[in-house]
Amino acid sequence: MPNLENLNTLQEFTQKENVRLVAVSKTKTVEDILEVYTAGQRDFGENKAQELINKAPQLPDDIQWHFIGHLQSNKVKFVVPHANWIHSVDRPKIARTISKEAQKAGKIVNCLLQIHIADEENKFGFEFKKLHAWLTLNEFKELEGINWCGVMGMATLTDDMQKVKNEFQTLSKYFSTLKKDFFSENNDFKEISMGMTGDYKEAVECGSTMVRIGSLIFGERNS
Ligand SMILES: *Cc1c(COP(=O)(O)O)cnc(C)c1O
Repeated sequence: MPNLENLNTLQEFTQKENVRLVAVSKTKTVEDILEVYTAGQRDFGENKAQELINKAPQLPDDIQWHFIGHLQSNKVKFVVPHANWIHSVDRPKIARTISKEAQKAGKIVNCLLQIHIADEENKFGFEFKKLHAWLTLNEFKELEGINWCGVMGMATLTDDMQKVKNEFQTLSKYFSTLKKDFFSENNDFKEISMGMTGDYKEAVECGSTMVRIGSLIFGERNS
């Protein structure tokens, strides 16, 4: 069951800090999402293509859907019609596919470049140097189905909050470098998506503009 008190506290906090709150509804039911929607929440995040495809058509049209999970090429054409945002662009090939499918669907998707900042091997994302090298080739400018809006990252899952903060600061620096080198004329390139239930306060201290919060709003997940 959603915890509306936590939701309210988060809404007040993010409003005060001028940060967008993305309520991560993965594994949760349409009924749960509707309850959170009714409490004023409009941005929701899903990490599996199938879940987004199932739920989005059953829910109000003014929801902004954020796709935050690892995306397989063959799922892009199903995700793009529903997603307003894709936070997890982590390789050139997926960027090309998103752009192509967005053009087919007659839309432009807001995209974030996911960058690897954690020390665990199981976290996805561009290696920063490789990303910088790819952007130098300028191909990204030709991907007309994509509106480049910023970066996304996930910190290491650890109780060592100093380590988490260091990783968030690294992502902030990466953002500034990319802004300066490639996106200085793009006013939409301003987002740093970082921070989840366990580390959102640290993320906001380090410059986050979008926090992705699941358990604190919807309760613990079983799966
Ligand atoms: C599940 C998930 C979150 C939210 O996690 P919580 O710890 O429940 O807040 C945020 N970002 C991504 C990419 C996720 O997969």
